[in-house]
Amino acid sequence: MQAFATHYGYEPVGVWSAPGRVNLIGEHTDYNGGLVLPFAIDRRTWCAVGDRDDRVVRVSSTLTHETVQVSLDGLDPDQLSGWSAYVLGVIWALTAEGIDLTSRSGLDILLTSDVPLGAGLSSSAAIECATAIAINDLWHLDLPLQDLARICQRAENRAVGAPTGIMDQTASLLGKADHGVLLDCESFATELVPLRFADEGITVMVIDTHVSHAHATGGYADRRASCEKAAAALGVTSLRALTRADLERAEQALDDETFRRVRHIVTENDRVAHTAAALLDSGPRSIGALLVASHVSMRDDFEISVPELDLAVDTAIAGGAIGARMTGGGFGGAAIALVPAGHYDIIERAVLAAFAATGSTTPTIFSVTPSPGARRERALTVPSMTEH
Ligand code: ADP
Ligand code: MG
Repeated sequence: MQAFATHYGYEPVGVWSAPGRVNLIGEHTDYNGGLVLPFAIDRRTWCAVGDRDDRVVRVSSTLTHETVQVSLDGLDPDQLSGWSAYVLGVIWALTAEGIDLTSRSGLDILLTSDVPLGAGLSSSAAIECATAIAINDLWHLDLPLQDLARICQRAENRAVGAPTGIMDQTASLLGKADHGVLLDCESFATELVPLRFADEGITVMVIDTHVSHAHATGGYADRRASCEKAAAALGVTSLRALTRADLERAEQALDDETFRRVRHIVTENDRVAHTAAALLDSGPRSIGALLVASHVSMRDDFEISVPELDLAVDTAIAGGAIGARMTGGGFGGAAIALVPAGHYDIIERAVLAAFAATGSTTPTIFSVTPSPGARRERALTVPSMTEH
C-alpha cells in the first residue's frame, strides 16, 4: 500500500484486509442466544503493518488523518478513545485473553477503507478484524478465526464501549464468496450457506437512508433490557429457549409491549432457520416472504424501524424486489432488497422518487456482493514484502 510508505517513510511488511457485512436476516437475535445469517460484502478495510524495534504502536487511518501513538506496555482500555480504540482495543483484548505480548516489538499500522462508516455495514468489525488478522499472522499467534471474533467483540465491548454481539466479527472473519454465515449465538456454531444470488440473477441492493436517531443507543439498550426481563419472567436463561409453542404462555405472562418484543425474537429465530433451509432447498428466490415478514416484525413488534426504512422496503417490493427488510440495529441505517436482473434501475429510481416526494434526505443506493472474509492481501503485496 503506497499510502503506508508515504505516511511512515518505509515499506510495510504486509497488507491484510477484512470486509464489512450485511445481515440477510436475524435482527436483535444475537444477544438472545439466537440465530443470525449475515454475509461478508465487497467493501473492505485494509490494514498495512510495519515492524518497529521498540515497544511503540502507531496507528493511522486515511479516513481520519490522525496518528495515535501508544506503548505496548500498560495498554489500558479506559485510556483508549475515538476511532483508534477499535484498533488498539484489539491489541489490548489479546492481552486480556492471556496472550503474552511482553516480548513483542511495536508496530506501525495504516488503515484504509471503502466500507461506509456508520451505515450499518459494520465498518467497526472490518477495522477490528483487519487488525486482528494482521497481528495473528504477523506475530504467528495462530488463533482460530472464532477466537479472533471473540477478541474483536471484546475490544468493541470494552475498549470502544459498544455492547454489540459477535455477529459482525464472525461474518467479517468467516465469510466466503457467494455464501452467508449462519451463526448460532448460543453454541457459536457456524455453517456456510450458499446464497447463489449471482446464479439466479439477483442483486442485493443497499438503501442507506442516512437516518440516524439520537435515541438509537438508548433504544438498543432498552430492547436488550426488555428481552432480559421477559426471559427472567418466563423462567428461561435466554429467549432462545422459546419456540412458537411458548407464545401463548408468554402472552398471558407478559404485558403487551414485552410480549411483542418476545414474539419478534421467537419468530425471527424461526425465520432465520427457515431462510437457511430454503436457500439450501430452493434457492434465493424462495426467501422473499421471510425477509418481508422479518421487516414487518421489526416494524410492528420490536418497533425499531423508522418511516424512511418502511418507505425503502415498501417501494422496493412495489418495484419488483423479491424481498426487502431493514438491516442492522434499527432506528435508522439501511434497508436491503433482493432485486432481480432488470429491476435494479427501476427500483433505484422509484426509491429516490419516493424519498423526494416525502421530503426525506436522499438515500445512498448501491449493490453489494457476498464476498470472502478477512485475508492476507497478496494482490496488494509490496515488492519488498516477504512471505512468512
Ligand atoms: P458501523 O460499524 O455500522 O460502520 P459503528 O458506529 O459501529 O458503525 O462504527 C463506525 C466507527 O468505526 C467510526 O465512527 C470510526 O470511529 C470507526 N472506523 C471504522 N472504520 C474506520 C477507518 N477505516 N478509519 C478510522 N475509523 C474507522
Ligand atoms: Mg459497528
